[in-house]
Amino acid sequence: ALSDRLSRLVKTMRGQARITEDNVAEMLREVRMALLEADVALPVVRDFIARVKLKALGQDVVGSLTPGQALVGVVHKELARTMGELDANGEPKAGPSELNLATQPPAVILMAGLQGAGKTTTTAKLAKHLVEKRKKKVLTVSGDVYRPAAIEQLKTVTAQAGAEWFPSQPSDQPVDIALAALDHAKRHYFDVLIVDTAGRLAIDEALMAEIRALHAALKPIETLFVVDAMQGQDAVNTAQAFGAALPLSGIVLTKLDGDSRGGAALSVRSVTGAPIKFAGVSEKIDGLEAFDAERHAGRVLGMGDILALVEEVQKGVDLAQAQKLAEKVKTGGFDLNDYADQLLQMRKMGGLGALMDKLPAQLQAQAGGADMDRAEREMRRMVGIIHSMTALERRKPELIKASRKRRIATGAGVQVQEVNRLLNQFDQMQGMMKKMKGGGLMKMMKRMGG
Ligand code: GDP
Ligand code: MG
Repeated sequence: ALSDRLSRLVKTMRGQARITEDNVAEMLREVRMALLEADVALPVVRDFIARVKLKALGQDVVGSLTPGQALVGVVHKELARTMGELDANGEPKAGPSELNLATQPPAVILMAGLQGAGKTTTTAKLAKHLVEKRKKKVLTVSGDVYRPAAIEQLKTVTAQAGAEWFPSQPSDQPVDIALAALDHAKRHYFDVLIVDTAGRLAIDEALMAEIRALHAALKPIETLFVVDAMQGQDAVNTAQAFGAALPLSGIVLTKLDGDSRGGAALSVRSVTGAPIKFAGVSEKIDGLEAFDAERHAGRVLGMGDILALVEEVQKGVDLAQAQKLAEKVKTGGFDLNDYADQLLQMRKMGGLGALMDKLPAQLQAQAGGADMDRAEREMRRMVGIIHSMTALERRKPELIKASRKRRIATGAGVQVQEVNRLLNQFDQMQGMMKKMKGGGLMKMMKRMGG
């Protein structure tokens, strides 16, 4: 089944003309839950909801938008804005994020973050990106003197990246290693030096002091905080500590290929104030993408391209006809003709498959995306069955007993059980529509999809 949140959301969108204190409160409860489920930290959620509320209440609902749609639009935009990079005027920056290399070469990039966050992997990914996309000569060095294996790991992945690696001895001080690498980079005309650092399992004062010392010695143009998207709520504390210790210039959110909703992005961005520049999307060296705030906002809300979906639904449904239907349901006049109409309406919208494509992957999986073809065939067959009924039978399905069923089945080229199934479904649908007092296209789709 589709998520309850989705159908509640659409329900809330029905039949209201303006964004008011009342309907905004109801909608924002849904948004708040979605954010908490995505593991955004509570204070961040509170702050965000307060801002959205302010913006939404000042908003006119224009044209064909319902208040629900308008509010989802505000939420989506504000979320993208909160997570994305802003220009000097506080407007969302155009184009993909990039590393800032605008300094006397070598430009130094310092990697910070907990152990296992993906610093070493990301170092290599960034090196590859800089070598291939920006044609830079890149040197890497590891300050992780506590684990010889980590130094070797950097050597291996740097080779894969097509960059060069500066050796470090576990017996040396991280600051000395980094300064030696910087000196080497200067003398050999490297454009960029990326400094990988030691892992911390948790925030640890000695290690914090060490990375502060590295920062002071290297004066990096980019200080990147690498954080695991799967960390959820804990990401806030980590981000707070790193943000307090270092002037972070950007964030890399790793492991977005996992099944987290990525709420950490919002928390980390809010707490540090630093923009999320890149996303790690696989263990492989090319698994790095420029962070796309718009797309990520949809993921956090768990709504995919819900606005597009809702617009599609509205486009496909003739409003006058929907009104007529609602009237019929109220008076008990919803019959098989109307049912066939509903089914055909869905075809007009491109069928279930097209609608499903617009849902987030998670919801698609829940709805059993692979069965969509089957559901479509089923829908066509149902319309076929209805078409082989007489006008009277369609108006009064209760007349359809055994012999009529056989005739209809033969006409439609199906088994009698299928006629029974259709009549049962129609019964259920009728009951459901009465409960909803008409409308409820989404619920209907859900029923037919399942
Ligand atoms: P470090 O301790 O911060 O240097 O972390 P590593 O770079 O060694 O990465 C820790 C683990 O996370 C390794 O197994 C990596 O392969 C894995 N990893 C890093 N980034 C990603 C990513 O974006 N996606 C996935 N699936 N795994 C990642
Ligand atoms: Mg490492």
